[in-house]
Amino acid sequence: MKPAAFRYHRAHDVTDAVGLLGELATAGEDPKLIAGGQSLMPMMNFRLARPTALVDLGPLRRDPALSSFRRDDSGLTIGAMVTHRTVEVSGAALGPDFAVLSRAMRWVGHLPIRSRGTVAGSIVHGDATAEWCLLALLLDAEIVAEGPNGRREIPAGDMFHGFYTTAVEPDEVVTAVRFTRPAPRAALTEFARRHGDFAIVDAAVSLDAASDGDSLAGGRVVLGGVAPAPVRVPEAEALLDGGVPGPELFAACGEAAAAAIDPPDDAAGGAAYRRRLARTLVTQALRQAWEKGETR
Ligand SMILES: Cc1cc2nc3c(=O)[nH]c(=O)nc-3n(C[C@H](O)[C@H](O)[C@H](O)COP(=O)(O)OP(=O)(O)OC[C@H]3O[C@@H](n4cnc5c(N)ncnc54)[C@H](O)[C@@H]3O)c2cc1C
Repeated sequence: MKPAAFRYHRAHDVTDAVGLLGELATAGEDPKLIAGGQSLMPMMNFRLARPTALVDLGPLRRDPALSSFRRDDSGLTIGAMVTHRTVEVSGAALGPDFAVLSRAMRWVGHLPIRSRGTVAGSIVHGDATAEWCLLALLLDAEIVAEGPNGRREIPAGDMFHGFYTTAVEPDEVVTAVRFTRPAPRAALTEFARRHGDFAIVDAAVSLDAASDGDSLAGGRVVLGGVAPAPVRVPEAEALLDGGVPGPELFAACGEAAAAAIDPPDDAAGGAAYRRRLARTLVTQALRQAWEKGETR
């Protein structure tokens, strides 16, 4: 399959990219940014996307701020051009508070995809099961975007509007994703037909230990593949607040999550099947998150 014809432009920096998007749109083009190309190119090849112009962000990899990550008091900031693979091999540098990001990367496609695809590209693309989208909700990410009117920060809770639809405007360039919520006890797990496929359902969870050490102060439960966008499940999270960590609580959270969702019924999996997956995966992920916190 070949994409429809398009014009090709290279952006030298973020200002140049924003400028090109504006100029091309004014000239009547339908421009789109391309980073790793691991989602956009397949969509263009299948003619599901037909931009008339591409603005390549490749040269922005030379900018150290865009192609590295850093820890500070506000959390972990990952530059827009950082690849899934860089995060995967950087577990020690991320530190225990954000190590779940590194562990989760093994679920993203295959090595060549992880070596080219970017964190920002995945979040802007907004697939309902994309691991980065779940992790953004889990760790209260802020998506930093630059556009013709300057810079803004989009909380992850406002980011995912539905089927491949996010809050980033067509004239904006994401420059970084900042994860603000440390989660030493966290895990992501999923079920896909083959390793490397997108998940049918995936679950990302975290647990907050209370100061008494015996109970929990709360936690997060995020599901993908059960709605047009990834969702938090407050009904399951409510059980974690004050709950005693262990198999009974984790199973009850799995049941609560399964009961709370209204999953789609499509060729990849029926609603009842997705509900069963959600129950199992939430229970498993909570156990893994608890054990991970014990062994770090
Ligand atoms: C066979 C296969 C299996 C895969 N499996 C998985 C999987 O299991 N899990 C998963 O999460 N992903 C999977 N992917 C997708 C992969 O993770 C992509 O890397 C990712 O979704 C998009 O990142 P990218 O850099 O390639 O973005 P691109 O494909 O270049 O762009 C994707 C979208 O984001 C926009 N965009 C990119 N960068 C920016 C930016 N800085 N600012 C604003 N907009 C931007 C583009 O305009 C486009 O709309 C798979 C891909 C393939 C081909």
